[in-house]
Amino acid sequence: MRVAVLSDIHANLPALEAILRRIGAVDEVWHLGDVVGYGPDPDAVVERLKELRARGVQGNHDLAATGDDVIRDFNVDARRAMEWTRREISSTTLAWLAALPARLTIGPWNLAHGSPRDPTWEYIVSEPVAAANLAIMATEWGLFGHTHLPWAYLAGPPAETGGRVGPIEEVEPMPDSGLVLAGRRALVNPGSVGQPRDGNPASSALVLDTERAEVSWVRATYDIRATQQAMRSAGLPARGIERLAHGF
Ligand code: ZN
Repeated sequence: MRVAVLSDIHANLPALEAILRRIGAVDEVWHLGDVVGYGPDPDAVVERLKELRARGVQGNHDLAATGDDVIRDFNVDARRAMEWTRREISSTTLAWLAALPARLTIGPWNLAHGSPRDPTWEYIVSEPVAAANLAIMATEWGLFGHTHLPWAYLAGPPAETGGRVGPIEEVEPMPDSGLVLAGRRALVNPGSVGQPRDGNPASSALVLDTERAEVSWVRATYDIRATQQAMRSAGLPARGIERLAHGF
């Protein structure tokens, strides 16, 4: 099965359409949360994911959009964008976001926005954090987002023993080259569709070949100015508009 794995779309429809075109035909679409927040197209992005019958999990921005008071922990710009999102979204979008689970297991794959042990909030940004999560993960492989950084952490070999994992290898993705995970537990981040932060403003995602247990990162340039213009018209914060052009 060929699967598109999308994370941190952040209500950026031009980026979503561009990465879907770049990926082409797939059997399924999985998403890792933060479908909304920051960007100007929350309803349209949710409608597109519904059309695609995407399966996925709730991110911290999705949770905030449902009215949860986690919004008070957001920085000023994220909070202003979230207040706008709350005003703008339709009741059907709200219901769809509220129904997203915190975690999802699909075969040997664990889907979480943040991390397997703290699915909404934890950032996996270091080897110790990755190792701790790999050690408790119930499935062989985990897919995570939240950091907006395309990256992978592979355990061992040797394979883990007694709840401990072998040395962690950090893997920086090579565009358009696959990484075969078979035989190694791994945590993999597709990067962000709608607000990349790795210094490359192109939309980022992952294509998964489930038979081969192979992941491939893909990037797609998109009409950044169209998204920025829509954000300006909506009165969204300037910092969120500017950063799209730089990719951080
Ligand atoms: Zn995010």
